[in-house]
Amino acid sequence: MAKPLLRSLVPEEIAPAVGELGGEAYRARQVAGWLHVHDALQWDEMRNVPRPLRAALAERFDLQALTPVERQESSDGTRKFLFRLRDGQTVESVIIPMESHSTFCLSTQVGCAMACRFCATARGGLVRNLEAGEILEQITHLRRDLAAAPISGHGDRQFNVVFMGMGEPLDNWDALPTVLRIMMDDDGLAMSKRRIQVSTSGPGEGLRRLVAAAPGVGLTLSLGGTTDEERRRLMPVPGRTPLAEVIELGARYARQSARRTTIAWVLIAGKTDQPEQARRLAKLAGSGPFKVNLIPLNVLDDDAQEPSGPAAVLAFQEILTRAGIDTTVRLSGGRDIAAACGQLRRRRLAST
Ligand code: SAH
Repeated sequence: MAKPLLRSLVPEEIAPAVGELGGEAYRARQVAGWLHVHDALQWDEMRNVPRPLRAALAERFDLQALTPVERQESSDGTRKFLFRLRDGQTVESVIIPMESHSTFCLSTQVGCAMACRFCATARGGLVRNLEAGEILEQITHLRRDLAAAPISGHGDRQFNVVFMGMGEPLDNWDALPTVLRIMMDDDGLAMSKRRIQVSTSGPGEGLRRLVAAAPGVGLTLSLGGTTDEERRRLMPVPGRTPLAEVIELGARYARQSARRTTIAWVLIAGKTDQPEQARRLAKLAGSGPFKVNLIPLNVLDDDAQEPSGPAAVLAFQEILTRAGIDTTVRLSGGRDIAAACGQLRRRRLAST
């Protein structure tokens, strides 16, 4: 059995753990700083922590759970990483350079149980949930990469996080609340909730839990259909929750966190780019505090589905915009490095 990950502990848990091992109270702060500010991956990096305490911590906890096994950089600057976990499983993370900061795209599960027809991660089903520390350590590695190879014109360490990598974040309720707390805590990563976006396919149970927990971070609903039937066809598992309920919960969440919920809509030629779908989507999005983000399909290697062409994308967007819906088109980065969620891992699985 692997040891617990030190990075999975919320700040209030670090003090008792350090205390039990004989460390003074202020040592907990130092240790937390090494985890969440200085991105330590080795115990001997914790220079101001006494050696005996480091050794005692190392006996009880693991500090590193992820080993980088692949790094690709796209011509557009997108950086994609494949990490091996302690049990040999692999997950992906991505750095997406924006104008003034980077966006980190993180994974929350190995595989996924939602079975969405257009998604690479769904193909192998769910293997397991990631632990909180495994999710947070992705940030550690991405920040270390940015420190080693800065993006010109970017502020020092400013980054946003989107949970749009492998897995369904709301299907990993064991870890997600802990991860969000550590990200926003002053003794954790001290991130503003404005910089965090949870993206979900909207399984009912998870969505209800999120609304009840009200963490205040941004919410993106990956809709996949404008009727229950359409949605079930493309997203069999989340599609079990009635669309009306998904929309209602998305709107309630937006009102309680005072920021609009984004509806993500994947555009597949001939399947999800029909004018009547745009009109129904406009109606759904107009029913509450929503905006829409259109994502032309990233083609998977073994799939006959194709992304909508530029004209169809524009026409679809036009219908929404005319209806007064704030609509953007996501230009996917990293196409030349298979950066669509789950693609890198799949290619590696196929080649071994
Ligand atoms: N499970 C969560 C987060 C991971 S998927 C969710 O569904 O939101 C992140 C986003 O990528 C979702 O909006 C999803 O619809 C989209 N996506 C998945 N596969 C895609 C593909 N092949 N092309 C374009 N977008 C895709």
